[in-house]
Amino acid sequence: MDNPYKHAGKKGDYIDSYYSRTLNDDHGFAALEGDITTTVCVIGGGMAGVATAHSFVEKGAKPVLLEANRVGWGASGRNGGFVSSGYSKGARDIVRMVGESHARELYKLTNEALDTINCRMGDRTDELRANNYGHFEVSWFNEPGVVEEYVDFINDLMGVDYEFWPKDKFRDYYHSNKYHDAYLKPQALQLHSLNYVRHSAKTAERGGARIFEKSPATEIRKTQNGWKVFTDKGTITADNIVMCCSAYIGNLNFKLSNATLPVATYIMLTEPLRDRLRDAIEGRWGVSDNRFSSNYYRTFEDNSLFWGGRVSMFNPTGKRLENIMMKDLLVVYPQLEGIKARLAWGGYMGYPVHKMPQIGELEPGFWYAQGFGGSGMTPTVAAGEVVSDAILSGDERYKLFEPFGLEYAGKPFGPIVAQTAYWLFQLQDAYKEWRLNN
Ligand SMILES: Cc1cc2nc3c(=O)[nH]c(=O)nc-3n(C[C@H](O)[C@H](O)[C@H](O)COP(=O)(O)OP(=O)(O)OC[C@H]3O[C@@H](n4cnc5c(N)ncnc54)[C@H](O)[C@@H]3O)c2cc1C
Repeated sequence: MDNPYKHAGKKGDYIDSYYSRTLNDDHGFAALEGDITTTVCVIGGGMAGVATAHSFVEKGAKPVLLEANRVGWGASGRNGGFVSSGYSKGARDIVRMVGESHARELYKLTNEALDTINCRMGDRTDELRANNYGHFEVSWFNEPGVVEEYVDFINDLMGVDYEFWPKDKFRDYYHSNKYHDAYLKPQALQLHSLNYVRHSAKTAERGGARIFEKSPATEIRKTQNGWKVFTDKGTITADNIVMCCSAYIGNLNFKLSNATLPVATYIMLTEPLRDRLRDAIEGRWGVSDNRFSSNYYRTFEDNSLFWGGRVSMFNPTGKRLENIMMKDLLVVYPQLEGIKARLAWGGYMGYPVHKMPQIGELEPGFWYAQGFGGSGMTPTVAAGEVVSDAILSGDERYKLFEPFGLEYAGKPFGPIVAQTAYWLFQLQDAYKEWRLNN
């Protein structure tokens, strides 16, 4: 790579991260200039917005997408890259809330979304995906029988084939005495998220979508027959709009903005660890643990470690962030003491209090898909499917998300609420660890 920093630093451009340093091309999209009329205007070019635009194109429509910065600039182009079915809210809680058959329908959507992501990678799969398929969820807590029983429950509910791995077998590959029983999600993926979302946007563009970067929507007005979206240098007149701005929505719409907390989470990439990696990690699967603020990580071919975790309102950056992340890593793998970080970065997720995506229609023709924090990337793709089907053919599957509404998330105290909740959950996890593991 000639200049690893060439994509970083400029306002509206990608932040410095592993992803921006390894973009597979710098194809940009023009900024909007002038006035356009369309059936659908998608606002926000993260996974949710791009997946929505892509879904419309696959069904023969030609949407317009506005992105304030660059496609994938937000959480979608900075994240851990782990893609698997499911939601942030616990499966048993979902069943309790909506009943078993409704829950099965919800999970079916994310199973299908995983297939869609595989399909959309097409012949670029090798370039967009890392390592083999598979992601572990490992228990931090010594609760014999609990994980095994959960695997039976979730396999039946979700229609998946997760594999139970007892502690000793798991520790053969991941040498940490913090870990207990685990299960493998064999179909889960590790993506180059930024290249993926840009690939999806480019495919949608080739299919007829018009995509504009560096074109923040500054105002939305209701018209007689639909909506008018304003940017600095243009307007979009649309029958329908789909809001996909997540935690970066600002003041564009108070109801949507107030329905999620902007929760920051972080990633660190280490220097290549050469043979030292084997002292700690011998599996190429992704891993995350089951604490509220879990660590999630994977390794790269050069034996560097891609380590994610934490949430915070203080937004540490640079060396300070690297030190915080390294400290977390050494709790799990003290044998890696002395290794060096290469860089660290963070991003905001939109986090709803009920931990389920918020997908629906605010008023006729005004749609939204947000609140994917914790739930992750398959629900963004599911959202694109159900919203496009609803607009194009009146399909009502989006109503599966009706029980999870736009509840007020505590703003303007959101970040303080999020930080306090995080500390409380950390305390809870520490107490549980002390109670069960000693
Ligand atoms: C560090 C980190 C690690 C994560 N790890 C994982 C993981 O491993 N697996 C997983 O599944 N999930 C992970 N997540 C969560 C996941 O990335 C998000 O839930 C998902 O990407 C959300 O997609 P989105 O499109 O809703 O939001 P975003 O990707 O944040 O996109 C929102 C977009 O809207 C744009 N926008 C905002 N306002 C306007 C406007 N007025 N006009 C036009 N555009 C606007 C923004 O510029 C932004 O690009 C992680 C998140 C972070 C931050």
